[in-house]
Amino acid sequence: MTRNKMPEAPAAERKNNFTEVALGYTEQQAIMEAARCIRCKKPKCIEGCPVGIDISKFIKEIAEKNFSGAIKTLKEKNNLPGVCGRVCPQETQCEIKCVLGKKGGLSVAIGCLERFAADWEISNAGGEDCPKTETDGKHPPDEKTVADGKKKVAVVGSGPAGLTCAADLAKAGVSVTIFEALHEPGGVLRYGIPSFRLPKNIIEREIQYVKSLGVEIICNAIIGKLRTLDDLFKMGYSSIFIGTGAGLPVFPGAPGVNLCRIYSANEFLTRINLMGGNDPGKYDTPINTGKNVAVIGGGNTAMDAARSALRLGCDVTILYRRTEKEMPARLAEIRHAKEEGIKFTFLTQPVEFTGDKNGYVTGVKCLKCTLGEKDSSGRQSPVPVRGSEFVLPADTVIIAMGLKPNPVIQRVTAGLETAGDGSIRVNPDTMETSIKKVFAGGDIVGGEGTVIEAMGMGKRAARSIVSYFFSASA
Ligand code: FAD
Ligand code: SF4
Repeated sequence: MTRNKMPEAPAAERKNNFTEVALGYTEQQAIMEAARCIRCKKPKCIEGCPVGIDISKFIKEIAEKNFSGAIKTLKEKNNLPGVCGRVCPQETQCEIKCVLGKKGGLSVAIGCLERFAADWEISNAGGEDCPKTETDGKHPPDEKTVADGKKKVAVVGSGPAGLTCAADLAKAGVSVTIFEALHEPGGVLRYGIPSFRLPKNIIEREIQYVKSLGVEIICNAIIGKLRTLDDLFKMGYSSIFIGTGAGLPVFPGAPGVNLCRIYSANEFLTRINLMGGNDPGKYDTPINTGKNVAVIGGGNTAMDAARSALRLGCDVTILYRRTEKEMPARLAEIRHAKEEGIKFTFLTQPVEFTGDKNGYVTGVKCLKCTLGEKDSSGRQSPVPVRGSEFVLPADTVIIAMGLKPNPVIQRVTAGLETAGDGSIRVNPDTMETSIKKVFAGGDIVGGEGTVIEAMGMGKRAARSIVSYFFSASA
């Protein structure tokens, strides 16, 4: 049986709007796909899942039309199944381990099935306003322990790491408050990933689920500015989890980088996703773009920025230093971008930005590259070719060359050990930092990673915090 393809909106239609591209399996497609699973005695797929979902069990439940059982199984380990079913790079995590794929066939479409189960719950067990469902608030904690409900934990940051840590602590009976710097919770899920990949109602619903477990979320609260970690301890929190992510953009040291209409991808995406920049009729914070947009970078962030600019009516070219083979973005995102008409210029390194007399960018001066020796990432490094300069005309430039850990807490917290890139050092087994009772996880620890890796770290930290509560010395 061949793998069932995810239905998608046609490129010609979808490139004009921000509605979701992947349309989701029908019931029949989901059952057919689930029936492809051979129910391995030792399912390798589970080893590939950083939060340890019982994948073969939830797939079996879908195959048997027990959809409520499937979502229950998913939520035992994953508090954000609708998010993960959409954005996790399953092809490099659970699906790459699937025995069917190893036997020369195509792996089971685990992500599509996860999304199906999460969407089924929305349509059949509560709708978008998320009233309590059969599964809400009733999960046993991963540990067979229930913590002292009087203990309070503060979680800083409401991205996937913070939400997961908070939800798992709440399931264990701990009282949790999340402090979030922005005016909406969700981290990159909310301000980074565009709604054509991850609709806002899905994020909203899964955050509501976390709240339904008893988690309190306080927005507009920058820890490190408004309050310090010491202040949180004084307020009665017994322990703190830091999940502040990697949102600090990396800019090239090229002349002209400060010209007008040169954005970091994070700012560009935040202006659209969080400030309605694509909907000037409704919001008074429009995004200012020209017509010809150059996007610099080859990761998911670059694809998201490019495809968002396209949807604003721009003509978009992606500039990348290596070849398509080395691009870190998910294959599906690259395919979608191409189908929608985004142009790619490979083996090209920007060296300068040109501008007009008013200080607006007019072009990107580039050098052509060849591939040289492998670097620390295991990929061949780009080597600029002398004398190969050319200028790509562009009236808007979006820079997506990487992100560094958010620095606010580290700057004001004595004794918090950090690595050279500003990330917080932890004991990888417990996620405890150099300060007792302070834990950390997600991109603030590992640098730019994935949603599910951040969730895995949040989960590990929650387990440590719960066991810490029970240790005699706590
Ligand atoms: P974040 O999601 O960054 O959340 C951190 C939160 O902490 C933010 O809400 C921030 O406002 C808040 N915060 C920061 N400082 C403070 C403070 N001092 N006080 C209070 N709050 C604070 N991964 C995938 O798996 N699949 C994808 O398709 C994918 N696409 C991506 C697209 C883009 C554009 C980007 C930028 C990343 C993408 N990623 C993707 C990566 C993934 O989103 C991150 O790895 C993940 O969100 C990290 O989670 P986190 O909880 O550690 O941090
Ligand atoms: Fe099914 Fe693949 Fe997991 Fe085996 S490895 S249980 S075939 S999803």
